[in-house]
Amino acid sequence: MKIQRRLRVVLVPYPFQGHVTPMLQLGSILHSQGFSVIVAHTEYSAPNYSNHPEFVFHSMNDGSHGIDMSFPSLENTYSMNENCKAPLRNYLARMMEEDEEEDVQGDQLACIIYDNVMFFVDDVATQLRLPSIVLRTFSAAYLNSMLTIFQEPEKYLPFEESQLLDPLPELHPLRYKDLTFPAIDNTVPEPVLEFCRAMSDIGSSVATIWNTMQDLENTMLLRLQEHYKVPFFPIGPFHKMVPSISSTSILEEDRSCIEWLDKQAPNSVLYVSLGSLVRIDDKELTETAWGLANSKQPFLWVIRPGSVSGFQCAEALPDGFEKMVGERGQIVKWAPQKQVLAHPAIAGFFTHCGWNSTLESILEEVPMICRPLLADQFVNARYLSQIYKVGLELEVIERTVIEKTVRKLMLSEGGKDLKRRVVEMKQNIVAGMQMDGSSQKNLNDLVDFISSLPSRCSPPTPVAIMCSNHTSSKCIIES
Ligand code: UDP
Repeated sequence: MKIQRRLRVVLVPYPFQGHVTPMLQLGSILHSQGFSVIVAHTEYSAPNYSNHPEFVFHSMNDGSHGIDMSFPSLENTYSMNENCKAPLRNYLARMMEEDEEEDVQGDQLACIIYDNVMFFVDDVATQLRLPSIVLRTFSAAYLNSMLTIFQEPEKYLPFEESQLLDPLPELHPLRYKDLTFPAIDNTVPEPVLEFCRAMSDIGSSVATIWNTMQDLENTMLLRLQEHYKVPFFPIGPFHKMVPSISSTSILEEDRSCIEWLDKQAPNSVLYVSLGSLVRIDDKELTETAWGLANSKQPFLWVIRPGSVSGFQCAEALPDGFEKMVGERGQIVKWAPQKQVLAHPAIAGFFTHCGWNSTLESILEEVPMICRPLLADQFVNARYLSQIYKVGLELEVIERTVIEKTVRKLMLSEGGKDLKRRVVEMKQNIVAGMQMDGSSQKNLNDLVDFISSLPSRCSPPTPVAIMCSNHTSSKCIIES
């Protein structure tokens, strides 16, 4: 008698919002394709289990007790990578033993999918001879810029202050100032380079999943695939490929802002948020506050607790600001961002250009003001403003410049052009999500790929193809 066994995938997210969100979304996508999903997460910043009854969760002792983990420093990230090794290995080894004892009854472990910052997983997978797959939560353009620098670091580093605005022709449209590392004195400390190398390496992993789209980044993806020589599965945008939306927020969402948006005129409000990690100083907060106030445009502003250095939250706002803006401005600590961006009252997004925020904005046809502060945000901002032309770069943090930029986005002909282009961009991406579109086809191929992975043996020899034309989307095996 043939018994059908479901295939099980184990997901290992990096416990920060911009990474947890796409990993959980990927889990929902794979679950909807018939896989059973286990999320092996750190104790720090554990996901809300009740939002995902379809997953099994497993908590790993990450040694974070008593340590300030609120920022993903190198030290925190390395210690997490070290501390989670044994817990994950023991958990998987036990699961594999039970799989064998259960013979053909239970689900069967197919592979581990890990965030590229949790690079320790590659060691564990190799030891257990389990296939592993890397998840990239950022754009292909960002990884390409990193690899280009690694290949010849001496060509780019250190650079002079006077070179900051010079173009990097092989990385158009990037300039020295957009280089993706936290440069100190215009050079990059060796530990930072080491970390970036670890993150970009895929070890013995057999494939890479991307929260991006072939239609948007095909050239870049092909170039990277030449380098990595494993199949790539660009199946983004994850937040629209998921069958149903459930909250992935680590912080509590303040939904009162939706009621406030309901009272605003269509296409009138600027949404302001710098994501889950970046911190600004009180000077930037003050300039932003007066820029918004003087623009006379309605705004919804997320000021996350701890996001203004030296302050708890919005108490750093300048005197007289709240009185001046009155009902025209709404401030919250954390918003249900996807619903906010989808609201008809929203006209623009003042963003730090994190990759999730970037995709969420484009998919809701919202043009952007780009204020990058960290990591891949500089690359995203340059592409949004110079290549896709759906955003305005904000490079001078001064109240009159902010006021002018807000008015340009919200009121000018130039702002309307940005809107037209973001609508077109969204339509192209949506086409890729249809049955015969690239993301959907790549998803079908990913399902076939995982389903045909030999479990508990040496990972198969990598193959240098983007994706073949498989059509089956079943992941049930028969034994
Ligand atoms: N986000 C949210 N509410 C907020 C601000 C952000 O839900 O008030 C979500 C946003 O929708 C996105 C994620 O947090 O999915 C931030 O990820 P992103 O890659 O944009 O930036 P990061 O936080 O990693 O810098």
